[in-house]
Amino acid sequence: MKKVTVVGGGLAGSEAAWQLINRGHEVRLYEMRPKTMTPAHKTAHLAELVCSNSLRAANVENAVGLLKEEMRRLNSLIMMAAEESRVPAGGCLAVDRVAFSAYIEKKLFDSGKVELIREEISAVPEDDIVIIATGPLTAPSLAEELAKLAGRDDLYFYDAVAPIVSAESVNMDIAFFASRYDKGDADYINCPMTKEEYDAFYEAIVSAKLYEPHGFEKIKFFEGCMPMEEMAARGRETMCHGPLKPVGLIDPRSGKMPYAVVQLRKEDREGQLYNMVGFQTHLLRGEQERVFRMIPGLENAEFLRYGMIHRNTYIHSPKILDPTMETRERQGLFFAGQLTGVEGYVESSANGLLAGINAARCAEGRERVIFPPETAIGALAHYVSGGGSGKFDPMNITFGLMPPLKERVRKKKEKNAKIAARSLEILETIDVS
Ligand SMILES: Cc1cc2nc3c(=O)[nH]c(=O)nc-3n(C[C@H](O)[C@H](O)[C@H](O)COP(=O)(O)OP(=O)(O)OC[C@H]3O[C@@H](n4cnc5c(N)ncnc54)[C@H](O)[C@@H]3O)c2cc1C
Repeated sequence: MKKVTVVGGGLAGSEAAWQLINRGHEVRLYEMRPKTMTPAHKTAHLAELVCSNSLRAANVENAVGLLKEEMRRLNSLIMMAAEESRVPAGGCLAVDRVAFSAYIEKKLFDSGKVELIREEISAVPEDDIVIIATGPLTAPSLAEELAKLAGRDDLYFYDAVAPIVSAESVNMDIAFFASRYDKGDADYINCPMTKEEYDAFYEAIVSAKLYEPHGFEKIKFFEGCMPMEEMAARGRETMCHGPLKPVGLIDPRSGKMPYAVVQLRKEDREGQLYNMVGFQTHLLRGEQERVFRMIPGLENAEFLRYGMIHRNTYIHSPKILDPTMETRERQGLFFAGQLTGVEGYVESSANGLLAGINAARCAEGRERVIFPPETAIGALAHYVSGGGSGKFDPMNITFGLMPPLKERVRKKKEKNAKIAARSLEILETIDVS
């Protein structure tokens, strides 16, 4: 059995390491924290969730729900940890981030097969089998090397993250607990807005002062992570059709649906922290306080974390990767996680799982596994390795990445359920040993 080098102890790297040790291999895992921190990580823990504590929709009629189910069936460590550290969040799978990382570390270290080296890697190691999983905040020294390898175009762009407020600072005389359409438990805090309040908020957000990035890093926002002010700038009503949509929510005080609603989602088991759903932003901190306190119920909000702007590094995968996540040029060199151009916690973990399986195959001198695009994990792999068309942008999993059904099904939910059933059936037939 060989020792495989994994660079980056984030979601993808931890999942890849788990897949390797479960197939009998040893792992040398390089993680630069805490010696060198990224602009978003706060701890030295493996698989730290840097922003939201949600792993998104739980049901398989939703593409990310299907991806999670596939991961469960593929013995995913990230999914085991999520189940163990789950906190209530309606139809979403949300976790206690401390318990989540602790579970992952225990499983990896208890195996006795993982050697953790706290070191920043600044060049692709020359070892026989290497997985690079250094994520969207890859250290600049290594990013520079990767730029040469993968092509300088498209190496950088920005994402934006949402603020967290303390639960006790929310005015519950105005805000109310509910989940949309009363699905599951009433886990969200909802801040209702009248038309007048919404209009005033809109005017404030479109004229607020923004953080200005500098240098050569050109801003390219990913559609699924659009900053609130960017969304507002698209039109007066755009926020109302996006994160501030009121449908399925009735204000118990008026008995009516508000004009707009800001939702806050629980961040921790104790319910002390709440994340402003969809409020990723690059407003200056003082402006966040001024503008977001205009939201009814948040007039005295205590900001425990501000929304922020951050770098997202990814390689131009279609040029260099196979759907196995191995590079075409150098056998034994794999990439995994957000660095490959998948977007999101679940997608990054799933991609790490795939790279882990194939690095194990490589160590055993066996043929690599290619998951077909009918599976969610395969659809993502095919997308990043060139299955898509046109410009290469990071991507969340969606049913749109998977081939359509042969038969025509009108109802969306029914159609998605059939796509999910097809995927899980195919998954059973794939040899992942
Ligand atoms: C600020 C921010 C907020 C995000 N919020 C969300 C969110 O709310 N929901 C969501 O689904 N996705 C979110 N994402 C996107 C993405 O899903 C996560 O970043 C996810 O953690 C990616 O997993 P990963 O394993 O690819 O990278 P990471 O989890 O970032 O892991 C990479 C690891 O590599 C280490 N590393 C980097 N460079 C080196 C080096 N040279 N040598 C050694 N170690 C190195 C890092 O310290 C890190 O531990 C966010 C991303 C960012 C940057």
